[in-house]
Amino acid sequence: KDEVNIISGALELRKKTVCDVMTKLEDVFMLPISSVLDFETMSEIIKSGYSRIPVYEGSRGNILTVLFIKDLAFVDPDDNTPLRTLCQYYQNSCNFVFQDVTLDVMFKQFKEGHKGHMAFVHRINNEGEGDPFYETIGLVTLEDVIEEMIQAEIVDE
Ligand code: ADP
Repeated sequence: KDEVNIISGALELRKKTVCDVMTKLEDVFMLPISSVLDFETMSEIIKSGYSRIPVYEGSRGNILTVLFIKDLAFVDPDDNTPLRTLCQYYQNSCNFVFQDVTLDVMFKQFKEGHKGHMAFVHRINNEGEGDPFYETIGLVTLEDVIEEMIQAEIVDE
């Protein structure tokens, strides 16, 4: 039964896109770059439970970098370190994919691994009057793809 599920899940990867499985931008836990890493902010980060936190400037769609929880190892909340300082130090890059990328292609990219196991999903927005622009609409991780492959939820630690 499990094997049948996995095989059909693997075959389905070619039919589904990152847009189908992503976490929507409005549901993403993220921080503005103007944040200060005081006790309150750091508690909130730990409480969120995520290992990677997108960092934005201005609007949530304008993602600059990603904060890894491990980057906080040497941060003392009493120092009130600006998040910007930490981001400038680590300069973690972000990986972007188009919304119509299929999950087999996304899986291959994650497997190759040079850009990490998380990608931001974007699309070209050409509605409205102005010029078309890239719009970030969510994020997808290796876990989202694997859940689709095994046709089951992975219960987080
Ligand atoms: P983590 O290592 O933080 O647990 P995973 O890669 O295991 O992240 O992903 C678990 C789920 O959480 C996935 O559905 C993914 O889209 C979502 N996710 C990952 N990071 C965030 C975040 N910062 N805010 C909201 N959802 C997230």
